[in-house]
Amino acid sequence: MNFVTDSRKEVIVGAGATGLAAAYATGFPVYEASKFPGGICSSYYVRHGQTHRRLIRSDDEEDFRFEIGGGHWIFGGDAESLTFIESFTPTKEYTRVASVFLPDHDLFVPYPLQAHLSYLPQEVAESAASELESVGSASGATLKEWLAAKFGETLCRLFFDPFHELYTAGLWREIAPQDSYKSPWRPKQDFPTSQPRNCIGYNATFKYPEAGLGSLFQGIAERCDVRYGKRATHIDTTRRIVFFDDGSSQPYEALLSTLPLNVACRLADIQTDSRSDPFTSVLVLNIGGRKGDRCPPDHWIYFPSSKAGFYRVGFYSNVDEAFLPRSTRGTNTAVSIYVEKAYIGGKKPSDKEVARLAKDVVLELQSLGYLQETSVVDPTWVEVAYTWSYPNSTWREEALHRLRDHGIYQMGRYGRWRFQGIAESIREGLSVRTLRAVV
Ligand SMILES: Cc1cc2nc3c(=O)[nH]c(=O)nc-3n(C[C@H](O)[C@H](O)[C@H](O)COP(=O)(O)OP(=O)(O)OC[C@H]3O[C@@H](n4cnc5c(N)ncnc54)[C@H](O)[C@@H]3O)c2cc1C
Repeated sequence: MNFVTDSRKEVIVGAGATGLAAAYATGFPVYEASKFPGGICSSYYVRHGQTHRRLIRSDDEEDFRFEIGGGHWIFGGDAESLTFIESFTPTKEYTRVASVFLPDHDLFVPYPLQAHLSYLPQEVAESAASELESVGSASGATLKEWLAAKFGETLCRLFFDPFHELYTAGLWREIAPQDSYKSPWRPKQDFPTSQPRNCIGYNATFKYPEAGLGSLFQGIAERCDVRYGKRATHIDTTRRIVFFDDGSSQPYEALLSTLPLNVACRLADIQTDSRSDPFTSVLVLNIGGRKGDRCPPDHWIYFPSSKAGFYRVGFYSNVDEAFLPRSTRGTNTAVSIYVEKAYIGGKKPSDKEVARLAKDVVLELQSLGYLQETSVVDPTWVEVAYTWSYPNSTWREEALHRLRDHGIYQMGRYGRWRFQGIAESIREGLSVRTLRAVV
């Protein structure tokens, strides 16, 4: 299906990866709520002891680089999106170093756990291996059932169950299985033995722009017609007008929306017969400070349990020291970290709760030996971070269809309520140039 072609009235909402690529490809104006481009992929900089976020690195580079949504690494991607990215900023390639940490055993096991059973205590490894041999191609209606069917009791008890409790903020018992490639499962004999097992999985290698992810989106935005400070607050679907929080409005024939699907339905007063699918929010705590004596070399670590309730700790500076203030690079004395904790969608903690959590997280990282004193502790909130579906839900299709009937075409990871990374979001945005790819 194609949409109407009055080029004066085709507008994009949201200048994240998807909206910017679409704006670049089409020349349509893009209306963005914040004052900067990139959405949750934006980089920002904070100096030692300060709280002020800067979008541009200081000339002396004596600041930490963080990202709004925590470390964002470019994985996958087809030739077109990767060439597009490289045309704005050179990137470096990295080989993933990631582990699962099992606190009860005080043990790091390389990701994915199920391919590294020899790291586990012998008895545990033996029972996990025999269960993995016997699990078949059975699936399950819920994520909980799927995990049990794929990994068996031992690995679920050890890691998969408690990790998914934290990662989905408890939703894993009722949501449909999803993103199975994040927990790669194959019969044991199928894991490659001829190559290092850290090759397994969707992000075994990844790229990152030399000058930071923000430089990529700033570069694209400079070549687009981006109108900042325009938060869409209402969409009048009868008159086809989108209203913004600064009092302005814009008529449209076709509105290309990267707003999360639930938000687009709310702004457009679209009702669905099916109940809407759930989502989780993520609080990202960006931390810079003095490196602890037991700081691991990993790019990120998955936790099945933690006192403060986080499920992942990432180390920006283990990916690249360019994330650190210049004077600390090469000294092995500084570290920059992102910590992710999930919440049921929209259940944002109060400022007081965030401040308390930040304190607890820092204490826990210090007791783990990852961190000593801190220079910067800066929380960010991603309202719609992970999108999920109930088993057999038809909400997504129904919502997309109803919006489309009013000339609203949803795009992107949140717009279309599905998992996709930066490169795929860019590819989706670029493909809009045909005017037919959105639907
Ligand atoms: C915790 C986390 C970690 C991730 N890690 C990775 C990773 O390592 N690698 C990877 O490839 N991908 C990662 N992703 C996915 C990646 O973030 C997405 O693929 C990408 O950001 C999608 O871009 P988008 O433009 O579709 O959405 P967004 O980035 O959400 O862009 C939407 C834009 O719309 C704007 N907006 C919102 N509301 C309004 C409004 N009412 N009016 C106007 N504008 C509005 C926002 O400000 C934003 O700029 C991660 C996601 C999360 C949540």
